[in-house]
Amino acid sequence: MDLNYTASQKAFREEVRSWLTENVPKEPLKSFDTEEGFRQHRAWEAKLNQGRWGMVTWPEELGGRGCNLIEWLIFEEEYYRSGAPLRVNQNGIFLLGPTLMEFGTEEQKARFLPMMATGEEVWAQGWSEPDAGSDMAAIRSKAERVGDHYVINGQKTWSTRAVWADWVFGIFRTDPESSRHKGLTFILVPLDAEGVSVRPIEQLDGLPGFAEIFFDDVKVPVENVLGGEGMGWHVAMSTAGFERGLMLRSPARFQETARRLLELYQENREQADLDPAIGEAVTRAYMDAEAYTLSTYMTASRLMQGDKIGPESSTNKIFWSELDQTMHETALSILGARAELWSHAPDAGAVGSWLDGFLFSQAGPIYAGTNEIQRNIIAERMLGMPRA
Ligand SMILES: Cc1cc2nc3c(=O)[nH]c(=O)nc-3n(C[C@H](O)[C@H](O)[C@H](O)COP(=O)(O)OP(=O)(O)OC[C@H]3O[C@@H](n4cnc5c(N)ncnc54)[C@H](O)[C@@H]3O)c2cc1C
Repeated sequence: MDLNYTASQKAFREEVRSWLTENVPKEPLKSFDTEEGFRQHRAWEAKLNQGRWGMVTWPEELGGRGCNLIEWLIFEEEYYRSGAPLRVNQNGIFLLGPTLMEFGTEEQKARFLPMMATGEEVWAQGWSEPDAGSDMAAIRSKAERVGDHYVINGQKTWSTRAVWADWVFGIFRTDPESSRHKGLTFILVPLDAEGVSVRPIEQLDGLPGFAEIFFDDVKVPVENVLGGEGMGWHVAMSTAGFERGLMLRSPARFQETARRLLELYQENREQADLDPAIGEAVTRAYMDAEAYTLSTYMTASRLMQGDKIGPESSTNKIFWSELDQTMHETALSILGARAELWSHAPDAGAVGSWLDGFLFSQAGPIYAGTNEIQRNIIAERMLGMPRA
């Protein structure tokens, strides 16, 4: 691994930076957990795609730039540094996108990827069910093959952004005799299909960031199966690898938070230095964000040589989720009583975003598979310890 950027990588960084400087909205968009914010974020996805920055690793014929993972990491660093809006279609572009590249037919890729890139079709993820969260193999929602269709019945829950999304991908039990990981199939379902109802779930901040999705005799054509009938677990594990590993949480997100934390500390030193542990926590956060970045560059280099992500996606997931929590806790300690200001409170200024971030960071050890489950995976698959 060469730790220096090449001339072409530096030129790429400049190109990304200059496009973002020109195009990133001057005013922050509304939350994508509101209808108006969702619309604004869709429009931003379309604009990114017009500049061919929607998903730089995609092939050129699909509107991407055929970039490798190192270039993607550079893109992400510039993206977060510029303060560009979070991606409303992250489930699509970062999770389903790579899964379609790996398992999709040519027709499926051509049908779904371009619409995903433009933000015309925003995707929700449908794994969790009321009794199948950590134990995802307990999925009961079923899809029964009838001629050239599947008929889906059941319920999904905790589906992020499903309130205004257009499609959901998920796994369903297609073999009624099967149990656990067998007999599951990965299916793509339009949320406006007859028989689908979406019930919003309110978050701590009162906005409907999630939804339950109910399927009542929903008909989808067999062409909507990804990777073949009965292959659902295998396909889903590949998506989960992208989620826990590189794609969902690029290190740039945490580097940017660490940079903002350092700035906050410098602006409030008098208050912050009253507790010597705060200075230490800021230094540690900065170093941890850098360490995560370097380790991601190392993983990216390995993947570019043809390796697969493997169980280290679990170590990544634990690391970024706990780092995010610590950084936000440190920020709140620096802010003292001001930390209680919501971002929409009068005069909250930039302070409110720390509380928003803190609340969201509490979810980090839960989504994308809880950290307890990741620790089980590390114990069993990396350390070879017996199952508890
Ligand atoms: C912000 C956020 C976004 C989400 N988005 C989506 C989404 O888009 N789509 C989707 O399908 N789901 C989504 N989820 C749901 C998420 O995947 C589940 O919450 C998660 O898998 C845990 O499942 P559960 O909530 O049913 O908890 P449970 O599985 O009931 O777990 C409860 C507790 O028990 C622990 N536990 C359970 N089993 C074991 C075990 N064997 N060993 C040790 N500890 C164990 C867990 O770690 C946890 O602490 C989201 C969740 C959050 C918080």
